[in-house]
Amino acid sequence: MIYKTPEEVERSRVACLLVTKTLTEVGKMLRPGLTGKEIDAFAEEFIRDNGAVPGFKGLYGCPSTLLVSRNEEVVHGLPDKDQVFQDGDILSIDCGTIVDEFYGDAAYTFCVGDVAEDIMELCRHTKHSLYLGIDAARAGRRVGDISFAIQRYTEKIGGYGVVRELVGHGLGRSLHEAPDVPNFGKRGRGPVLKEGLIIAIEPMTTQGSKDVHARDDGWTIITRDGKPAAHYEHSIAITKGGGPADLMSDHRPIEEAIRNNPNLKVVDNLDEELVARYQPALVC
Ligand code: MG
Ligand code: MG
Repeated sequence: MIYKTPEEVERSRVACLLVTKTLTEVGKMLRPGLTGKEIDAFAEEFIRDNGAVPGFKGLYGCPSTLLVSRNEEVVHGLPDKDQVFQDGDILSIDCGTIVDEFYGDAAYTFCVGDVAEDIMELCRHTKHSLYLGIDAARAGRRVGDISFAIQRYTEKIGGYGVVRELVGHGLGRSLHEAPDVPNFGKRGRGPVLKEGLIIAIEPMTTQGSKDVHARDDGWTIITRDGKPAAHYEHSIAITKGGGPADLMSDHRPIEEAIRNNPNLKVVDNLDEELVARYQPALVC
């Protein structure tokens, strides 16, 4: 595993904050009738205008800057002209950047228009599980502690499904570094977390069965039962001494954009105190 110096953590933070800014701008635009292609073109231009490079485009053959997964699409949805957003959709938008050699990575599920209450609840629950995972990510503990916290809350308490095929990951000069950070697992197992490790924690939660498969496009992962899924992601750095993790990406500006966009519905925090514990030092 690659442990970053404080200087490298700061470089990674800039990349993650550009992801936050991009998702914030996208959050200002979203409305029914807009297409995936339109927000993707905007995001690419925005990232390049900021002197950076889209992190996903071209990596493993990925054709786009954003990955936009709608409703039963879990992750890796391709934003094209046929992806027309509709009232009642949930859109999991994942974005990566490269700034000064370092990757940033974060995702947010946006709720467009009149989203059904049970689906809003899926989103709230998934976002809260992300913060529970972050709260478990402390020096001296193990990756399995993060995994367990997310799985227990998602499956045991919520009755939702945890996707097994896709996991969180280390982050740095590569988008995917060791360790894998699954959203399921056992307490006290897996690699030990140490200061300077940067990881992306990203619960992918299904309303129904946890089973997923890829569409014919070879990219889009969808639920087998066609029920919706949500996906929230933050990149964090492990701090010394077992204290709370250092959040690199930031949901606050994204949520402010959502509150100011009449086409979107806000996904409330289930525990404001927990979320407040993990506010990034740098506001963009
Ligand atoms: Mg991501
Ligand atoms: Mg990721």
